[in-house]
Amino acid sequence: MKRSLTMFLRALRLRCPNCGRGSLFVSWFDTAPSCPGCGLRRDRGEEGYFLGAMAINLVVSESIPIIGIVVTWVLTYPNPPVLAMTVGGMIGAVILPLLFFPLSRTLWLALDLSFRPVDIHELNRPQTE
Ligand SMILES: [Zn+2]
Repeated sequence: MKRSLTMFLRALRLRCPNCGRGSLFVSWFDTAPSCPGCGLRRDRGEEGYFLGAMAINLVVSESIPIIGIVVTWVLTYPNPPVLAMTVGGMIGAVILPLLFFPLSRTLWLALDLSFRPVDIHELNRPQTE
């Protein structure tokens, strides 16, 4: 449990959940092939590995505009600002997935590592791309 919490805290800092030393990103949208600290492969050697990260990103970043619209509607009823809610919701629905992208990847890796700890063979493996 403590190990999982540590990994999630590292993920929130966009660090490698396994070691916490290395950044997994070379840019906002591009991950390094492996962690510079421990050598953990970013995709753990599995094709389509970040499908879970995409799901996390979709659920979290699209829920926020919906919650904002609902809260605004409830607070301003019976005269909700429909245009502002529509524009704000559309902007949020486009921008939030981009902002949340790297965090969704590190959180997904932390979640996966909580259930499937690192095997020694996953570290420092040569990249085959
Ligand atoms: Zn690492």
